[in-house]
Amino acid sequence: MGAASVGGIGSSLVVGEFEILRIQAGTYWWDGGAIFGVVPKTLWSRKIAADDLNRVPLAFNCYLIRTGEHTILVETGGGDKMEPRARERMNLPAEGEPLAAAIARQGVDPESIDMVINSHLHWDHCGGNTVRANGDVLAAFPGARYFASRAEWEHAHERLPRDSVSYIDANYDPLVESGQMTLVDGDCEVVPGVRMRRAPGHNRDMMVVEAASGGQTFCFLSDLVPTAAHVQPTWVAAFDLYPLETIESKMRWLGAAVDGNWVVGFAHDVEFPFARIVGDAKTQFAAVKG
Ligand SMILES: [Zn+2]
Repeated sequence: MGAASVGGIGSSLVVGEFEILRIQAGTYWWDGGAIFGVVPKTLWSRKIAADDLNRVPLAFNCYLIRTGEHTILVETGGGDKMEPRARERMNLPAEGEPLAAAIARQGVDPESIDMVINSHLHWDHCGGNTVRANGDVLAAFPGARYFASRAEWEHAHERLPRDSVSYIDANYDPLVESGQMTLVDGDCEVVPGVRMRRAPGHNRDMMVVEAASGGQTFCFLSDLVPTAAHVQPTWVAAFDLYPLETIESKMRWLGAAVDGNWVVGFAHDVEFPFARIVGDAKTQFAAVKG
């Protein structure tokens, strides 16, 4: 797989006939203990240093898949709907750069985006689906068809005490109501070579996105593996609703990534726009850049 330019903000990669670009829709700071779950700080702090509030830096990573025929945006970042106090807690600027502007900055016309995929509907993955405008909520990508899991959307509306805080309906409901968002029932191929596949663990219906062309594969692992430090199967975030399933799904996808020499992308890694997964005697899997 030829890496056109890897590293920093502007990162792209060629996968067969496809071009993949990583778009970083800003960074935020979140509690390290929550991100690393039962892993002791003495171990995780060797991988990512915490600030004096025990927070670690994370990215809102989005990916563009350009197939030649389609321009597909995977994830839309945190968006503009968090309360000021929550933004402050995460060290987010009071007003972030609009995602469309971040995309344009990488030389891609945001109006060329004809599909948007959400791996799941937590605010930090679909916050940029819509934008607030004069008391209204509008599609951020009016020319695009949006895709998300139906079961995840139904779960969002269950409003369970454990995770209701992760869902902001304005990020998806206006799109479902207007018919612009398609709710998919399980695994599906949105265009030839680009698939959404259910990978349970983080929650019941989170999906990873695989883009395969010319015998090569890119896989966006979303929160199955939020950062490169999480490739070790037992390093599971405290957020995950089904940690045993996370471990099982990781074994499956990371095993496939090793066997197929895939390039992968992580939902929140600040450093790695793209990585390959290799076997490791001690930690089972390890991530290498590019
Ligand atoms: Zn996330």
